Amino acid sequence: MKRKSMIAVGVLLAAGLALAGCEDGEAGEAVKEPAMVLEDENDGATDDGSGLMAAGEAKAEAEGETLEETENEEAPEEGEEETESEEAPVESEEETESEEAPEESEEEAESEESPEEALEEEPAQTDTEEKSVDASAGVFTKSEITDDIKQRINGISYPAGCTVPYEDLRYLRISYVDYSGTPRVGELICNKSIADDLLDIFSQLYAAGYQICKIRLVDEYGGDDTLSITDDNTSCFNYRVVEGTTKLSKHALGLAIDINPFYNPYVTYPNGGIRISPPGSELYADRSQNFPHKIDKNDLAYKLFKAHGFTWGGDWKTLKDYQHFQKG
Ligand SMILES: [Zn+2]
Repeated sequence: MKRKSMIAVGVLLAAGLALAGCEDGEAGEAVKEPAMVLEDENDGATDDGSGLMAAGEAKAEAEGETLEETENEEAPEEGEEETESEEAPVESEEETESEEAPEESEEEAESEESPEEALEEEPAQTDTEEKSVDASAGVFTKSEITDDIKQRINGISYPAGCTVPYEDLRYLRISYVDYSGTPRVGELICNKSIADDLLDIFSQLYAAGYQICKIRLVDEYGGDDTLSITDDNTSCFNYRVVEGTTKLSKHALGLAIDINPFYNPYVTYPNGGIRISPPGSELYADRSQNFPHKIDKNDLAYKLFKAHGFTWGGDWKTLKDYQHFQKG
């Protein structure tokens, strides 16, 4: 029974990954989570009634439940992110235990540790921290760009000829809750002028249980923004031009961040048509629909970024960049 269920999960995973690149690195480990974790997530859940279930959500439900349940489009979706805050620490403990579980399906057996998982196992880097909070409240640190970081970004997000001095950038380690409700630690590089804003915003998002797919340096995608956002990766600094133009992006200065980009696409209207990026996110360009991880004016991330003086790309008139917040 368990095995049948796992195989079904594998099928669903394959289907889900074709639609959204999210969680590919975490699939195996997430499957090992006890079913009760997911049931907990559904406590207080609200069904938006749309029947529109994102790939990531369908997978998440499949992980702890039966195939029949996952096919039921009326099944309650996960609750609003803001309602799950108190559950994060508990899930953290369960997650740690489940990582040692021996049972794995073939499909996910080789799903090696993601960068976030590796980070979670590292001790806190207190030597470089300028700011940190109690570990139980998550990891929120910033440091200058060390030689190790320079080696990781040189020639990629920080190309030859980059006009932004390292001194203007900061490296952040940030706790967040992923789409399965698992606490993780991600990495961001941003302009030093918004580092404290981001630490404050992300600590509040974490405390509220706000779900973020993943937070990795864009260098892990070779600096390719399209690959990064197709993988639903949240990232900030990347010395690049605005897509489709020759103009430097605010990301090039580390002054802009893209949040859950697969569900919050970049929409332009060339020659009266419509272009939606990343590929595969077309469904989520229709903002009249309800679906998980959608950023709108009721969204906590929107409210926090606005409160910190950021502008939101979803407010722009000539194009819509629903994933994008920038300052300065
Ligand atoms: Zn952006």
